[in-house]
Amino acid sequence: MPSFEEARRLILDRVTQLTAERVELLEALGRVTAEDIVAPWNLPSCDNAAMDGYAVRGADCRQPASLRITGFVPAGAAAIVPIDAGCAIKIMTGAAIPSGGDTVVPFEDTKECDNHVRITGPVVRGQHIRLVGEDVRCGETVIPAGRVIRPAEISMLASCGMALVSVYRKPTVAILSTGDELLEVGEPLVPGKVVDSNGVSLAAGVLACGATPVILGIARDNRASHVQKMSEGLKADVFITSAGVSAGERDLVREVLAELGMRPVFRRVDIGPGAPTCFGLREGKPVFCLPGNPVASMITFEEFVRPALLKMMGHRKVLKPLVRAILQDEVRKKTGKIKFLRVRLEAAGGKFLAYSSGDQNTGILKTMLMADGLALLPAERDSFSVGDEVKVHIISEDAEMMEP
Ligand code: AMP
Ligand code: MG
Repeated sequence: MPSFEEARRLILDRVTQLTAERVELLEALGRVTAEDIVAPWNLPSCDNAAMDGYAVRGADCRQPASLRITGFVPAGAAAIVPIDAGCAIKIMTGAAIPSGGDTVVPFEDTKECDNHVRITGPVVRGQHIRLVGEDVRCGETVIPAGRVIRPAEISMLASCGMALVSVYRKPTVAILSTGDELLEVGEPLVPGKVVDSNGVSLAAGVLACGATPVILGIARDNRASHVQKMSEGLKADVFITSAGVSAGERDLVREVLAELGMRPVFRRVDIGPGAPTCFGLREGKPVFCLPGNPVASMITFEEFVRPALLKMMGHRKVLKPLVRAILQDEVRKKTGKIKFLRVRLEAAGGKFLAYSSGDQNTGILKTMLMADGLALLPAERDSFSVGDEVKVHIISEDAEMMEP
């Protein structure tokens, strides 16, 4: 049975980036560039005014200077008339500097009178001009392949005139819940039954990392139902099932998947919660069988599925940050496997303090809602005291914003 790190390595070594596709700019937000983006032109495209004022020849500005106004260039206009010696052209921010000009004198340093402008403030030759190509040179790589697209990258792509961008495809991720005890969300509760929360919670996890969920609903605990739903699920880029993999029960999930061609890479992992997590490949496509317990399915999604999906989408950083924190509770566990302890984080004196978020029984969902992170309690230890340093994998966005 692989350890936590080994299992993650086994998965990440076997999933690869999907192919690229060209998408519209806004569609590219949060996705990863599949090719270098090369500037097709200079930015700015020409020398232009950085302020509203007068374009002049810097040499003419020795005071007291009075220059004849010979023209006006509004924003967006190309300058037609040149600036002759002793002359000035009124210019708006962003407008092209007329030939002969090398300096802009802002309005606040001038006084206009009788079609002449008097310079009233100090002038440095070359001031208030944005030079052609000073930001980006034509032919320069402005965004390398493998970069996550944020609003700043979108701004650069737009400035380079690119309405479409090549990014890695998002995987379709089929999600199947299994079990005779499951009710669909919205059905009235009956004793002995539970609502299929995994289907939507896993779909939410898939959406949160930028991939496309396909909810298949519930396979009942019989072969025919499994075969039918799983055949559907295996058409997606990634297939996730939940439940039906606990020790002791009839192992329908893995059995039917094996018949349908899934080759297991590992069948269990040395972690708790989440030990009965199975990972395999079917025609090269990843298949994850997660435990049924909602907390275990969420934790194993976070720790195993999410990094795999991010890698498929071309991300280079696929693991969430691990922070050091000081444990604030006594904790006991069995030796031999890593335990994920649900913790609340607080920042105090430049450090994170980690408090158990409450009952750590796998069946308790509420303490998952109260958790900012999962403390990774190492396999070899069985007891932890207040003041021990632990590593915490942050899972809430709120906590990501916290400063230790
Ligand atoms: P199993 O692996 O089938 O033994 O399921 C383990 C536990 O998870 C049981 O208590 C199930 O009722 C629960 N469970 C299984 N599937 C789901 C699901 N889709 N949504 C919520 N709870 C589930
Ligand atoms: Mg079951």
